[in-house]
Amino acid sequence: MLDKHDWAHFLTSRRIGYFSMEIALEPSIPTYSGGLGVLAGDTLRSAADLEIPMVAVTLVSRQGYFRQEIDAEGRQIEHPDPWNPADRADTLPAKVSVRIERRIVWVGGWLYVLTGLGGGREPVILLDTDLPENAPEDRRITDHLYGGDAAYRLKQEIVLGIGGVRMLEALGFRVIGYHLNEGHSSLLTLQLLRRHAYSPEDVRPGESPYDVPRVRDLCHFTTHTPVEAGHDRFPYDLVDRVLGDIVDGETLRRYAGASDLNTTRLALNLSEHVNGVAKRHAETSRRLFPGYEVAAITNGIHPSTWAHPRIASLYDRYIPGWRIEPELLMRADCCIPSDALWEAHQQAKRELLELIRARCGIALDPERPLIGYARRMTEYKRPELLFADIERLRGIAARQPFQVVLAGKAHPRDESGKRAIERLNAVIRQLGAEIPMAFVPNYGLDVALAMVSGVDVWLNTPQPPLEASGTSGMKAALNGVPNLSVLDGWWVEGHIEGVTGWAIEDDGRGSEPSAAAHSLYDKLERAVLPLFADRPAWTRLMQSVVSRNASLFHSHRMMRRYAAEAYLR
Ligand SMILES: *Cc1c(COP(=O)(O)O)cnc(C)c1O
Repeated sequence: MLDKHDWAHFLTSRRIGYFSMEIALEPSIPTYSGGLGVLAGDTLRSAADLEIPMVAVTLVSRQGYFRQEIDAEGRQIEHPDPWNPADRADTLPAKVSVRIERRIVWVGGWLYVLTGLGGGREPVILLDTDLPENAPEDRRITDHLYGGDAAYRLKQEIVLGIGGVRMLEALGFRVIGYHLNEGHSSLLTLQLLRRHAYSPEDVRPGESPYDVPRVRDLCHFTTHTPVEAGHDRFPYDLVDRVLGDIVDGETLRRYAGASDLNTTRLALNLSEHVNGVAKRHAETSRRLFPGYEVAAITNGIHPSTWAHPRIASLYDRYIPGWRIEPELLMRADCCIPSDALWEAHQQAKRELLELIRARCGIALDPERPLIGYARRMTEYKRPELLFADIERLRGIAARQPFQVVLAGKAHPRDESGKRAIERLNAVIRQLGAEIPMAFVPNYGLDVALAMVSGVDVWLNTPQPPLEASGTSGMKAALNGVPNLSVLDGWWVEGHIEGVTGWAIEDDGRGSEPSAAAHSLYDKLERAVLPLFADRPAWTRLMQSVVSRNASLFHSHRMMRRYAAEAYLR
């Protein structure tokens, strides 16, 4: 799979170390849970296309996140989702050790290689503690993505951050900067402090024993959520027991927080460049973390990955070059014949309907407008907003029939997200005769591609300002599918009313049934459904979505900005 030439190439170019707890590499590798991992994968796929040298570090997650089944009562059942890294990756020629609970834990791993359009190759290191020399419990540290308790998570973060930096060194990578994709990897800063410690006789009394400016210069931190549960905090008694004294306690508390180890704070304090993932999110983050400079680099999606094959071949034909320079898609409204776009979309829709028939046993109508909603099922995403006023929804459907497809996993310990899945499935059974609906189980890369390309409208209803960016709407736009969404995250930048989709007005007060629900129904009834009935106007809208959204919200632009504004700064 890999020859000497590849290793030589990986080790001679100077690279950015990209650290992420999850990375979505391909549909059959379950090392991701959702948006963060998909973004990490798209980041690296763009780096490969653009030949920006990176080396990614993540955990092997042998048992995956979980495979979702929906039972007869509409409840989520979680199954392990194991994979065998030997099928997809090569064993690394090095091992390193970290200290956990005062034991030595050996960390080995796997090399997976992502290949870009022009043959650019990006190494991905999948760290693995399942080695015979480790104690049985330590062999399980890299098994479950986002599983276990706080101690388990802290051990994973030690392996990712500290083990990851040591592994890159042991392999001989020339790392010129570290990109912390979310706070999970922020313990890497502690290893860097150790590497850049002054010798004791050079430390003046009262001054730091570490070259902190040097470490800060090396680190770029991307924060991904304003939701509190997204920021790991560990009590210091746990930290003292599990992590021990990798740096002195005073230094740790100075940079990671006085009361507990806050991984976000550690990353903020030790990164010279910090960014949020959309303009609105950067503003929110500045309010959340006063005193820190937070730039905005809006997320994007990888063009070749997220265009349905029929749509992609249409672009290949009419807009050659779009895969490497997606900005060219701005020509779509003039250069792509509207009936060809419509026909490609209909093909994607037929395939989605076939998938829904096979997985849910529900037959939807290819002629009726299909609204899609899929994302992590959690409270702030408000997955039930569409059903806030069932009578009103029924009335709309009676006059202008439509259908709905839903999908999404809830974290196994997110009880309210799991109840939402159960209630959504109950609504599907209750309204099925009037509004055909389906819930596709086990949302992942493949279901996502089928949905974002096969639905007619992509719905998003988060509670502002909690949607940091959102990327599924960008995937829909790449396929010519307009968004109907609350103005939050990327949609603040992408929305032009009636031209790229529609805004759901939200008064932000969260009343029930909320102003947001009323606005959603109004837009559906007065704008979306009537326009869908006017085929020429609708296909013009689809062209305009590609021109104005797909040309802008892609990961090539995002990557070029990271390179210019963070890595080379
Ligand atoms: C794109 C994607 C997401 C992120 O979607 P959001 O709109 O940001 O919630 C999550 N899961 C999968 C499988 C995806 O493909």
